[in-house]
This record gives sequence, C-alpha cells and structure tokens, in this order.
Amino acid sequence: MRFEGKVALVTGGGRGIGAATCEVFARDGARVAVCDLDEAPAREVAERLDGRGLAVACDVSRRDQVEATVQRVVDAFGRLDILVCCAGIIRDNLIHKMTDEDWDAVINTHLRGSFLCAQAAQRVMVPQRYGKIVFLSSTSALGNRGQTNYSTAKAGLQGMARTLAIELGPFNINVNAVAPGFVETRMTEATARRVGVEWEEFKRMAAERTPLRRVGQPVDIANVIAFLCSDEAGFVSGQTLYVKGGP
Ligand code: NAP
Repeated sequence: MRFEGKVALVTGGGRGIGAATCEVFARDGARVAVCDLDEAPAREVAERLDGRGLAVACDVSRRDQVEATVQRVVDAFGRLDILVCCAGIIRDNLIHKMTDEDWDAVINTHLRGSFLCAQAAQRVMVPQRYGKIVFLSSTSALGNRGQTNYSTAKAGLQGMARTLAIELGPFNINVNAVAPGFVETRMTEATARRVGVEWEEFKRMAAERTPLRRVGQPVDIANVIAFLCSDEAGFVSGQTLYVKGGP
C-alpha cells in the first residue's frame, strides 16, 4: 500500500499503458483519476478500481479541459500527488508525405498536452510541497523512420522532464520520463496495420530484435512508472529511464 492516501491523475488512462498504471496505483492504495479523450474507456477502467477510481473525459491538448480536470480531481479527492502523462497518438509518415495536421496532432497531444497537464498540476503540488510527475517518452526519441513528429515530441519530453526537475525540485516535486520500447497496445497494433504486417508476426519480429526476446506488456511500464512515483525513488529526478527489454 505504498500509495495509501495519495491521489494520482493518469492521462490516457482508458487504455494500454495508462490503464495498467491506474491499476497499479489503485492496487497499492491510491485514489486515481482516470482521464481519457472518451469517457467510456475511462469509466470502464475506473470501475475496475474497487471504488478508488474517478473517470474524467478530457482532451489534454485543450487548456480549458485540462484545468477543469485538475480542478475536478482536487474537488473530488482534496489533493493531487501524482501526474502521469500517458495520452498519446501516432500519425506516422515519411517527411515528404507528412501533413501539417499529422505534425500538429502529435505535437499538440504529447508536448502541449504534457505541458498543460504539468502546469496545472504544479499549481496544486507546489503549495503541497509534494508531487511526482512522469512523462511518457519513447525509444523513438532516438530517431525512428516515419516518425518525425512523434520522435521530436518524445525527445522534447525528455527535455521537459529535465527542466521541470530543476524548476520544481525546490518544492519537493520529482519529474522523470519513462521511454518504453515495443509495448503490446492498440498503438503498436495500429502500426502493424499501417505497415501491412499481421499482428502476431509483427510482435514476433519485435521480440526477436529484443535482447529479452519478448515484447513489453503495459504492466512492465506501469511498474516502472509506479516506482518513479513512489517515495523509494525520492532522490531520482530529471531522468529518462528506457524500458525496452535491453540496453
Ligand atoms: P494507447 O493504448 O493508444 O493509449 C493511449 C490513450 O491516450 C488512448 O486511450 C487515447 O484515447 C488517449 N488519448 C489520445 N489522445 C488524447 C488526448 N488528446 N487527450 C486525452 N487522451 C488522449 O497507447 P499506449 O501504447 O498505451 O501509449 C501510452 C503512451 O506511451 C503514449 O504516450 C505513447 O506514445 C507511449 N509509448 C507507447 C509505446 C508502445 O509501444 N505502445 C512505446 C513508447 C511510448 P483514444 O483511444 O480514445 O484515442
């Protein structure tokens, strides 16, 4: 029960890595606001959390919705200790085919979304003198064909984590990033469809490239996020931890 008495907000909490993160937090005692673009998946996850969940529909790229969400969490639970920014999309294309819409959608969801959420959350965390923030980066931050938009956003989030660790550290707020490799979610399934490879074959190929010879599961990432949000990681800040079954 390492999160007993703590309140967490997880964006993109309705599916994949975000949903697994909500489950780990609730299992270990936190009350969890499950935020997602659509209320239905958020509600489904929140209902699995043994009365500890609150479903909130929110588009993280919209300032009004983000600020209202943080206010709703504080109204419901009285505080906000943990923010995990999992909301994410991909709009892959080679540079000569990437549209302004592909670029803006990905940058707005990942970079602007994480910025808005962190800004709203720190307004609550600074007066509390306590907070944990985790951004979702990716191995794509190091470069990945067809992902100029996504790679740029994921590299940017590493800079955001380092900078906010410096700015918010004096208020006892830890800010870190987790950079997963291949994790079995709707996002990677969509990539398989786009490149025209059957899903099972796509996962098999990814596992073969991975030193641990398997793909990641959402809970593999959720466990690391939870560690970074726990007091055991109280002296870790501004770091990006790669979680990819290998170096
Ligand atoms: P996922 O299963 O597709 O979940 C992402 C969630 O974010 C979805 O529920 C989605 O809602 C929600 N979302 C999208 N845009 C949003 C917005 N504007 N506001 C609020 N919520 C929004 O993806 P995932 O694989 O779990 O990814 C979670 C995070 O990990 C992402 O940041 C992703 O980039 C990162 N990541 C994933 C992998 C991987 O291999 N899966 C690897 C590295 C990093 P809808 O479904 O309704 O659109």
